Amino acid sequence: MMKCYCKSGNDFKKCCEPFLKKKRRAKTPEELMRSRYSAYCVKNSNYLVKTTYPKNRTESLKQDVENWGNSVEFYKLEVINSFENQVEFKAFYRQEKEECIHHEKSDFKEENGIWHYEKGQVL
Ligand SMILES: [Zn+2]
Repeated sequence: MMKCYCKSGNDFKKCCEPFLKKKRRAKTPEELMRSRYSAYCVKNSNYLVKTTYPKNRTESLKQDVENWGNSVEFYKLEVINSFENQVEFKAFYRQEKEECIHHEKSDFKEENGIWHYEKGQVL
């Protein structure tokens, strides 16, 4: 069994994979955030576009996501705080052998029971 990329400690098959395979929909901002992190790990840019709030999907979004995702290697996620529609996290990655941290507070938006990533503030 493969542990999930998002470091929940659960098996990938029972954690983020069902979201990435569109078998389940995230019920909370944290679930969505974790699944988006896993999407970066497996380079699923379609999922990242689909889970972005529709009005915030820029024309270059898919390409931007792919360029960023291809230039880095994520290896750890830490969810620091999850409250209402906000999730603060640290994503650890390597870029050209440098170890880096992406620290972000993300805002999520729910409409008709569907959560989307709205925007993020890099800390
Ligand atoms: Zn997961």
